[in-house]
Amino acid sequence: MDLGKRKIIVQKYGGTSVGSVERIKEVARRIAERKKEYDAIAVVVSAMGKETDRLISLAGELTGSPSLREIDVLLSSGEQVSAALLVMALEERGVNARSFLSFQIPILTDERHAAALIREIRVEKLLQCFQEGCVAVVAGFQGITQTGEITTLGRGGSDTTAVALAAALNADFCEIYTDVNGVYTCDPQIHAARKLARISYEGMMELAGLGAKVLHNRCVELARKFNVKIHVRSSFNNEEGTWVNGREEEMEGALISSVTYSREEAKISVLGVPDKPGIASMIFIPLAEMGINVDMIIQNIGRQNAADLTFTVHEEDLEKALQVVKKVAVEIGAEGVHSDRNIAKISIVGGGMHSNPGVASLMFQVLAREGINIMMISTSEIKISCIIDSRYTELAVRILHDAFKLGES
Ligand code: ADP
Ligand code: ASP
Ligand code: MG
Repeated sequence: MDLGKRKIIVQKYGGTSVGSVERIKEVARRIAERKKEYDAIAVVVSAMGKETDRLISLAGELTGSPSLREIDVLLSSGEQVSAALLVMALEERGVNARSFLSFQIPILTDERHAAALIREIRVEKLLQCFQEGCVAVVAGFQGITQTGEITTLGRGGSDTTAVALAAALNADFCEIYTDVNGVYTCDPQIHAARKLARISYEGMMELAGLGAKVLHNRCVELARKFNVKIHVRSSFNNEEGTWVNGREEEMEGALISSVTYSREEAKISVLGVPDKPGIASMIFIPLAEMGINVDMIIQNIGRQNAADLTFTVHEEDLEKALQVVKKVAVEIGAEGVHSDRNIAKISIVGGGMHSNPGVASLMFQVLAREGINIMMISTSEIKISCIIDSRYTELAVRILHDAFKLGES
């Protein structure tokens, strides 16, 4: 095989797609089909089904604050199992294949446990594998540092492994196989939605950033940077899915409109904060120093020169953030600190929000009609987000999708 002229693709199969032995056999069948058309295939796998959640809850039975180093050692085992089983299923079909863990390739990352960034992928071993006519089955989600520490890329990170591999191998495209037929105008598991034939990198980055977990946030950034064409599709049928493959300026018309949600938010309120300069920085600088991202912030000026400051963080960061904030609250003489995990962020995403005031008012009206209280609001040129009680997440997605007629093209 002339590796210079080869046709390479990368495929990624998510948790549901490899959720049982039967599913793994089906994936092996698909790979065998593809192998007839392409010279080289690298397949990235996630852990089986809900394995990653199961491992996290095992850790939770032992400790409330596990070290992230050990979390990464624990979680990376899930993808190792899938990779080995898939190779067995391929070999059983007469397809030559070999599994690769991150350290074997290696996929080098920085040191940030549970949220590592890929620094470099050495492709020599994979090319050697292709040269021998083997399918390379790569454990997703995991990486290795320069010093040999195991890392993971953050929840949903196998998508990022796949796109990074596609970039490193200069693959023709990257197929992301999942349990829905593509990217939709809202989560199709919640409401009948419209499948998008195509979406720009920028549009997809917005959706992923606002919670549409069908693609990992960072994988879309990488795809844009390295011009990797992504095809999001189902491993349960042969339907054409959604292509994520163009820049916004090359696409016709406005940004795609959709409704997204994220339940992975938590809210912290610092009550009775003295209303004077410098207080906000005393709260937010230590959070930034700990790498905690703050999303929405509101401040209400209340009685006697005291303000209430409320902001949201990722749910996983809540405990860490609370430790810092409680300490600062005492130092600045605030009255108290409250927190709430049972919130969700509902967003409508699309072009020209600022120039169309009717969008925000319709959103508020629709939520109010169902008695859904809005706790916080934030707007930008391309999205409006509201924080609501997480109990109403699905209801809010449905009524907003209908009110904005997103099911119609
Ligand atoms: P995988 O395990 O294959 O990586 P994920 O659960 O991470 O799958 O992502 C697929 C899920 O993303 C779907 O089952 C769907 O519920 C959810 N999802 C949320 N928003 C959207 C959207 N706009 N379009 C498609 N799927 C979405
Ligand atoms: N198994 C990991 C998770 O559940 C990574 C992935 O599936 O992409 O988050
Ligand atoms: Mg996923």
